[in-house]
Amino acid sequence: MFSRPIRLGIVGLGKIAIDQHLPAVAKSRDFKLVAGCSLAAPEVSFPVHADFDDMLRRHPEIEAVSICTPPTARAALALRAIVAGRHVFLEKPPAATLGEAETLRDAAVKARVSLFASWHSRYAAAVERARLWLADRTIRSVTIHWKENIRQWHPGQKWIMQAGGMGVFDPGINALSILTHLMPGRVVVAGADLHVPGNCQAPIQAELDMRSGDIAIRAEFDFLQADVQTWEMLIVTDRGVLKLSRGGAQLDIDGAMVLKGTDVEYAGLYSQFARLIRAKKSDADFEPLRIVADATLIGRPHVAPDYIE
Ligand code: NAP
Repeated sequence: MFSRPIRLGIVGLGKIAIDQHLPAVAKSRDFKLVAGCSLAAPEVSFPVHADFDDMLRRHPEIEAVSICTPPTARAALALRAIVAGRHVFLEKPPAATLGEAETLRDAAVKARVSLFASWHSRYAAAVERARLWLADRTIRSVTIHWKENIRQWHPGQKWIMQAGGMGVFDPGINALSILTHLMPGRVVVAGADLHVPGNCQAPIQAELDMRSGDIAIRAEFDFLQADVQTWEMLIVTDRGVLKLSRGGAQLDIDGAMVLKGTDVEYAGLYSQFARLIRAKKSDADFEPLRIVADATLIGRPHVAPDYIE
């Protein structure tokens, strides 16, 4: 079974689907794209349907779907796919709420399909090397700076600053996905400051204080960085300082560059999705989403200036 390419449908043909999913699937020997589903149909060389059920009805050969919509639309579509017996790749974050995410995990078990809650930053070129270097060291502290310009990276994406869009946690959760992959124990939020523009429903900046056992972790997320983006994590250990930068693509140890990789994240994600389907397994870790949920439970709200796109 599945020695031939797995027939795939992609749902939500927006920025990430066009920039990353389509090129990764085109290069993958594991998948063959059959059709897409999106509200506004972009100009692409495969059939696109406005309605998800219509896509599945017209293409019963579809075995797996990637869901790349904004988070609030994700769970309902994923549940329909799972109930229809399709394997599901969820873009990050896996859902808008933990309850939705756990419902999907339960449904996938029941339907005996593979569920992949993807975290693309975990597949950045230097993350695995960093994890191996940390494995026999004692981590003392972690400092995260994840800062980018919303106007550059998310033009026209009104959903992102609305309820369920997560605001600055949309990129910040990428840092949390690397963090939870690297830490030896559970990461717990101790305090947070959330800056929500008066005309929005999600934070545009956030600072989090966290702990993992004795390890102190500080994260600063900023959507208003005017300059070039900063996606960096500094980890101080008993034997050296590790720095991940460029979103996890570059690794420096004690100030010297060890690895500067290229963009391999989505090739890695699709290889993992194929492995899961072939092994009849799921990979559904919701810890990064749980940290965002905890930060919003415990966070101190601050009113920030209105955000004008
Ligand atoms: P986007 O550009 O706004 O694209 C979302 C797409 O989903 C749009 O084409 C939208 O159609 C479509 N859509 C919305 N609701 C739908 C529904 N019910 N059925 C079918 N299609 C629907 O957003 P994006 O940047 O691609 O982000 C999507 C997800 O990917 C987010 O969760 C984000 O965190 C994640 N992601 C984004 C990036 C990035 O760099 N942008 C990177 C990694 C992960 P309309 O435009 O017609 O509404």
